[in-house]
Amino acid sequence: MEDKILKYEIIAETSSLNSSIGTNDVSNPSSEKSIRTCDECGSKYYESTSQMASLCPECAYVLYGYDNCDHTFLNGRCIKCFWDGTHSKYIKKIKKEWKKALKKERKEELKKERKSEKKN
Ligand SMILES: [Zn+2]
Ligand SMILES: [Zn+2]
Repeated sequence: MEDKILKYEIIAETSSLNSSIGTNDVSNPSSEKSIRTCDECGSKYYESTSQMASLCPECAYVLYGYDNCDHTFLNGRCIKCFWDGTHSKYIKKIKKEWKKALKKERKEELKKERKSEKKN
């Protein structure tokens, strides 16, 4: 009888060892990525890709200047950060202003170039 109990214990030990090795397997990191929801745009994103606790990389970049994800879209989602391309109204507004500012800068640069051309 004692032998049987010992055998069971060994089986239980090895099986628990195997399962702990399975969860620590690094070859499949996608299963360990925790998905969060962005407070600003409502899109889902991988927690590990954003430096903000509750913002996707895109919103963290627009609102706070953090490094943005180099988005690579596949089937409507970024395969790197899981962002789905959603923009909140506020983010849209900020981006519009950026474009305007960029256009203004370019126009002023062109004006300067024209002026210097005339002088020459
Ligand atoms: Zn967002
Ligand atoms: Zn991305």
